[in-house]
Amino acid sequence: MHSPTLIALAAILAALVTAVLHLVWRFNRHIPGLGFWVLSFLSASVFGASLLVREHMPLVLSVVVAQAGIAVAAYCCFLGGRAYLGLRLPHHGYATAAIVAVVALAVYFTVGHPHPVARFVLSGLVGGVYFLLTAVTLARGGFNKVPARYIFAAMVGFHGAFLLLRPALFGLISAAEAGSDMAQRISQYVALESTVALVMIAFGTLLLTNEHVTTELRHLAEMDSLTNVFNRRAYLTLLDKAISNAQRTRQGLPVLALDLDHFKKINDTWGHGGGDDVLRQFVALAQQCLRKEDVMGRLGGEEFAIFLPNADGQGAQAVAERLRALVESQPLRSDHHAIPVTVSIGVALCTRGDSAETVLKRADAAMYLAKQNGRNRVEVVASPVPI
Ligand code: GH3
Ligand code: MG
Ligand code: MG
Repeated sequence: MHSPTLIALAAILAALVTAVLHLVWRFNRHIPGLGFWVLSFLSASVFGASLLVREHMPLVLSVVVAQAGIAVAAYCCFLGGRAYLGLRLPHHGYATAAIVAVVALAVYFTVGHPHPVARFVLSGLVGGVYFLLTAVTLARGGFNKVPARYIFAAMVGFHGAFLLLRPALFGLISAAEAGSDMAQRISQYVALESTVALVMIAFGTLLLTNEHVTTELRHLAEMDSLTNVFNRRAYLTLLDKAISNAQRTRQGLPVLALDLDHFKKINDTWGHGGGDDVLRQFVALAQQCLRKEDVMGRLGGEEFAIFLPNADGQGAQAVAERLRALVESQPLRSDHHAIPVTVSIGVALCTRGDSAETVLKRADAAMYLAKQNGRNRVEVVASPVPI
């Protein structure tokens, strides 16, 4: 393909992609990293536009725009990756120094000691390193869980490696000076690779945007907004899954039903806001007694449930007792007032043929027994048939 046509195509695509991503960002400003990625594409677009008018520009200026454009695009891409994952942003000093150094050297190899091959090698240096760093940053979390991150990483990683290795790929290291034929061919391949990389990285950016929005929606659908534990529906689904798993592996699965004592009185005395503070702090306290694999849900009002995968009845009773004692010993706070709170807990073990509803019903019955027996207690219901 004719090289100027390819360059024009790349420049137009860069501008279009930037415009589309800018729109996506305008409607999704809360997505971390997206703003940096728009800047990255903007920088690539400026570089692309400069190629279109290169003939009418002083050579030094076109070299500066090209070198800085690629490097800034790659650095913004890297910042986007870190922001997306919630990682601390680096100090910009190193990147600025690297970009300034590369641009200064490129100017030297343009006016001081003209050397197009040296400029070509330089132009991929900072960009290549930052695209590769972006790939390494994003390829985390497990492919099955977050495939979009790996797809994005593969795309920027490939582009980064190409930028760094292209002088060697084109055999330029040994060739002192590129002949006009050679330069023509190289510029074709470079324009072609840039165009493909541009489209693929933009596609990766949209995949990550989609991943973020999907995660957010799932969180909204599954979590209780006050206490940030699973809501009733999500909890019952997880419990059903855990029961099938326990039945298959013959592992124990105790379920705790928890209900705060005299919560109406807390609301009446401290107001609904006070009650909400108590609910939030109660969950935080309960989580101190749980392992990573234990799952807590809010079934409604001041009623919660917890299941403990791979635990036995004794272990579950010990956890319930520890939790009860911790809540009793630690008054919860609202507006600098200490509010004494206690909890009644029922424990039931999953048995063969149980569903989430049936085991919760037994745990609930044990919890009501704890209420009848004076509250602030743990009661364990004997399981009819072991799992
Ligand atoms: P018991 O010891 O028998 O459990 O007494 P209780 O007062 O806790 O009894 P009950 O379960 O009937 O009362 C639950 C109260 O929880 C009633 C309702 O006003 C309150 N409640 C339900 N949802 C919320 C909520 O989201 N926030 C607050 N602050 N209160 C809630
Ligand atoms: Mg209650
Ligand atoms: Mg209740």
